[in-house]
Amino acid sequence: MPIRQQVEHQGVEGARVGRFNRAINTTFVVYRIGDTLIDAGPSNQWKAVRTFVDLRPPKRLLLTHHHEDHAGNADRIARRFDLTPFAPELGRAKLASGYRTPLTQRLVWGSPRPVETQPLPDHMELGSDCTLRAIPTPGHAKDHTCLLWQQRGFLFSGDLYLARNLTHMRSDENLQLLMQSIVQVLRLDFDTIFCSHRGVVEQGHAALSEKLDNLKQLCEQARELHEQGLSESEIVVRLRGPEDGLSKMSRYNISKRNLVGQAAQVDISRL
Ligand SMILES: [Zn+2]
Repeated sequence: MPIRQQVEHQGVEGARVGRFNRAINTTFVVYRIGDTLIDAGPSNQWKAVRTFVDLRPPKRLLLTHHHEDHAGNADRIARRFDLTPFAPELGRAKLASGYRTPLTQRLVWGSPRPVETQPLPDHMELGSDCTLRAIPTPGHAKDHTCLLWQQRGFLFSGDLYLARNLTHMRSDENLQLLMQSIVQVLRLDFDTIFCSHRGVVEQGHAALSEKLDNLKQLCEQARELHEQGLSESEIVVRLRGPEDGLSKMSRYNISKRNLVGQAAQVDISRL
């Protein structure tokens, strides 16, 4: 599959790749600032990613987290350009050893390939006008980290944003932590979000704030229905509708009940 879409936005380039284009989360955008790549894209899209990275040989590769759609080609890029990718400390062991992923994810993204990394520093100077700050944002994954281009107010958000209204969640995600991370990030000064799946989101601060509000509302509603004595599956149907093809195909590893089940437990006062 060739590059699906070229992205260009005030000094940031990107290439959208993906085997399928069924939903927003089945394609992926690899971003580049000058000779620095942000995330490596899924391994089954190597040909398209290679076309993009070969245009300007990268000197650095920064990973936002270990998931296979973000780090799938890190090993190939490392070898091709003789570099050691930077990755958040909490993801480095998994990246080095490799790990198995469920069948649906293997179909959509391919398998992750083990890669040796070096620790992602708190700050990186990429030029006089470009300081990137690493912001740990656990929840989606333990090692999840956003990157803020301070001078421009650009947030490379990895998988923190995705959509204003979440419908599904992975079984290994932690909603309470995710919401706390969003609260932290909203204290930062940024306007545009570069989401790994959604693409460029202008007025991104407002969009992320709306996502948090929607999640808070979901938590309140889920708790209320739980207190009224409804079962978890009744609450899921009430708030997000019945489980769909994605839930079934992933054998509920990615499902509505993962989201709504946790929503009833979140302590909003701790955010
Ligand atoms: Zn992810």
